[in-house]
Amino acid sequence: MDNTFLQKSCNYSWFSGTDIIVYDLYKKYAESYLITKGIQKLLTFDYIRSPYIDAVINTMDNKKIKLYVTEGTLLRIYEIFYKLNLCTDICQCKFTYSKENIKRIKLISRDEENREIPVIFHINADSRVNAIAEYMSMFAVKFVILHELGHYLNGHCGYSRSVNQNKFTFHLNEPIHIKLSSKQSKALEVDADSYAACFLFQEMEELIKNDDYILSLVEGKIDVYRLFAAGIQGVCCLMGIDNKISNTHPKSSVRACLCIDGACRLINDNDYKDEIFKTIANVVSFFNTLNNVDKDKFVNDMVSYGREAKEIEDCWRKDMYYKVKQFALSYISNY
Ligand SMILES: [Zn+2]
Repeated sequence: MDNTFLQKSCNYSWFSGTDIIVYDLYKKYAESYLITKGIQKLLTFDYIRSPYIDAVINTMDNKKIKLYVTEGTLLRIYEIFYKLNLCTDICQCKFTYSKENIKRIKLISRDEENREIPVIFHINADSRVNAIAEYMSMFAVKFVILHELGHYLNGHCGYSRSVNQNKFTFHLNEPIHIKLSSKQSKALEVDADSYAACFLFQEMEELIKNDDYILSLVEGKIDVYRLFAAGIQGVCCLMGIDNKISNTHPKSSVRACLCIDGACRLINDNDYKDEIFKTIANVVSFFNTLNNVDKDKFVNDMVSYGREAKEIEDCWRKDMYYKVKQFALSYISNY
């Protein structure tokens, strides 16, 4: 695995003065990803001006692959993880940090109707605190990128082209343009999530193996796992807030549980799994508080989410797996 960008992760920072300087990092990450997987296809990556979370993969004629991520994806993800870092104890740090010494930085993004959408960053005076927020944000942004690449590599785009000519675009947060039942569509989304979570898990393990800067911030390896789980859970919660299209994408909690579950299968140690799920519970409760979610409603929802997760999984195993398998460019799981 090429670790060029991972190793840089300790040096990058969202802010340099008031400039955002991670745009290039994710562009390079996305554009070199297929090459690192041994696939000689040209992928171009760009940002779209939009304040909302979204990403799109467009495979054109199978020669040109274009991947777009909205600026809002970066803004919202970094905003929430800086905030999350200050409100919840996500990991055990090697240092004690103050939650007092915080500077608020406000940026204004605009929607299609030119309405102002404020984005507020809570910047701690201690750069180590900010670095923890940035690691979670990095996992979250890469999850979005890898989800789209998962649609391509696992054959969803190829399948889509074969059954519905000229319709080859997958959106993170919009209906896919292909005639699929709701369950079939959700099964593809969960498959793309699963791809993203599993490859991101491997990257996280590379950070640990390479004694990355992250290890100087936290008590131990388990804390890196916690930041990884928080990153995925956090981005799923954010997509849940944005996602108004419930017939093509599973509920965000279903997505988060299924993909963390998939990644956890790569862990041998059961104690680690327990700790990861405790972290997820912390992140979920933080988001619920933030969004004034009623506790009883949340528990009832979780029961129906369990049913939905089972139906999606069955649809994947018995139907969609066989349909997309022949178009897959990489190893495809039968999750
Ligand atoms: Zn998708």
